[in-house]
Amino acid sequence: MANIIDGKIISNEIKEELKSRVQQYKDNGREITLAVVQVGNDPASSVYVGNKKKACEYIGIRSLSYELPENTTEMKLLQLVDELNNREDVDGILVQLPLPKHINEDIIIKSIRPDKDVDGFHTQNVGALAIGEEGFVSCTPSGVIELLKRSNIQIEGKECVVVGRSNIVGKPMALLLLAENGTVTVCHSKTTNLKEVTKRADILVVAIGKPKFITKDYVKKDAVVIDVGIHRDENNKLCGDVDYEDVFDEVSYITPVPGGVGPMTIAMLMKNCVKSVEQNNK
Ligand code: NDP
Repeated sequence: MANIIDGKIISNEIKEELKSRVQQYKDNGREITLAVVQVGNDPASSVYVGNKKKACEYIGIRSLSYELPENTTEMKLLQLVDELNNREDVDGILVQLPLPKHINEDIIIKSIRPDKDVDGFHTQNVGALAIGEEGFVSCTPSGVIELLKRSNIQIEGKECVVVGRSNIVGKPMALLLLAENGTVTVCHSKTTNLKEVTKRADILVVAIGKPKFITKDYVKKDAVVIDVGIHRDENNKLCGDVDYEDVFDEVSYITPVPGGVGPMTIAMLMKNCVKSVEQNNK
């Protein structure tokens, strides 16, 4: 039977640590500010943005909210980012994705000053991660590393398999596991014999965006399984990319959905906001 890695407890630990760091800054007259930009009113994005603002409030980070209409032009958004880049009182900038189709996400991400890019999506930050330099790291994969470390799960020397190679989850996840001295394999939709590869994993991280895709046939006995996926199943219940019930008795550790990786993403965003001030020594 598996041990459950409780992302709620671990993310709360991190938030409490951050809260006292933020208070220390406040005591010295330094407020930390995150600008949150949303274009349009996609309901899922509104929930994510709302949760991020709530977390800021809890930790003591000031959040500035920019809610722009769906028909905002790319030029207008670039102007806002430019203004936020130049504002001394703004430490972090977050543009909620996805953006409406008429706006080029890559252009917007690259327009954010790398030292305010608390999402860690800018090519400069991705490049820094690839070569082991300091920078902002994408929040979901860095949250996975925290979950593993705080659960005392050794990464060094382990066979780590990441299923999914997106720029925001799979690729940075692989780089982070590599930086922790794991032996890393990345799988994707063109991988042949996926089961054979995933069955080698001591640590299996799944980020494919397909509900309950990973069943016990894909996992090695006593593996550690981290499920990044978030979906609604046929009964409108939240579920992940892993068939939790099916693999539960096979694995040694598993993250539930909800309550696993999800809460860590926001905690790591908050950590990046604090890091922004520390990194820039502002
Ligand atoms: P993407 O759709 O961008 O990427 C999915 C990846 O999975 C791709 O690399 C794709 O391969 C691969 N893939 C798809 N089907 C298969 C398959 N049958 N076999 C092997 N690989 C496959 O998704 P994201 O990385 O953005 O997100 C993944 C999941 O994580 C989603 O459910 C998303 O909702 C969730 N998520 C959760 C977060 C959280 O905070 N918990 C944050 C971000 C995402 P290819 O490249 O070949 O197309």
